[in-house]
Amino acid sequence: MPLILETIPCLADNYAYLIHDPATGETALIDVPEAPPILARLSEKGWVLHQIFITHHHPDHIDGVADMVAATGAAVLGGADDAHRLPPLARTLREGDTVSVGAHEGRVLDVSGHTVGHIAFVFDGAGEEGETLAFTADSLMAAGCGRLFEGTPDQMWASLQKLAALPDDTWVCSGHEYTTSNLAFAAHVDADNPALHARIEKVKKARAEGRATVPSRLSGEKATNPFLRSGEAALKSFIGQPEATDAQTFAALRALKDNFRG
Ligand code: ZN
Ligand code: FE
Repeated sequence: MPLILETIPCLADNYAYLIHDPATGETALIDVPEAPPILARLSEKGWVLHQIFITHHHPDHIDGVADMVAATGAAVLGGADDAHRLPPLARTLREGDTVSVGAHEGRVLDVSGHTVGHIAFVFDGAGEEGETLAFTADSLMAAGCGRLFEGTPDQMWASLQKLAALPDDTWVCSGHEYTTSNLAFAAHVDADNPALHARIEKVKKARAEGRATVPSRLSGEKATNPFLRSGEAALKSFIGQPEATDAQTFAALRALKDNFRG
């Protein structure tokens, strides 16, 4: 049986995700910006929380952990390299490790760049239609990627390449509702991309109706996310370096985004 995915808006513009295996009744949570909306969703669904998976140490991803553990007794798992700056962990994780939720196994990827030690959780083929579910938080985001607070552009580029290698129908379950401003930057650097303009219209409508723009399909990210399109000639020419490598193009685009005021 597939995992059931619930997307939960938290704080001003964060998302937490619940995954539930109906076969065994096991439930896990990815990131805890704050406890109340997540507890409300658990009781609405009648689910009992067993595990909490942490992607990285930023307060907007862990501030609700203590309340959540107090309310549910769930076990907290997080990155080994982040353990010194995370709440107490039942288990530390590195790339290549796996976690399980009922019958489903999730692979841990190191997706450093936004922070060093940021991890992602990939549940191959676990979605309702057999899609892969990838919990990417602030690495690959809808139409963008996280700011480089700790890692280097090369690190983030390598991380994005790992995620881009997942199947096209993968659901990218990222950590924030930043899609509108990410798309404004994308339109600035990739103006002649028709798929991008179609996505901008879709996202406008979703936001006007108060709907989340996550999770997003990896196929759509590859077609419209400028940071996954660093190999495209149009983006190399936008940065004025048609001969740049893909990693150099990524670094230049990420630096431009830091100072972009759409
Ligand atoms: Zn963050
Ligand atoms: Fe964040």
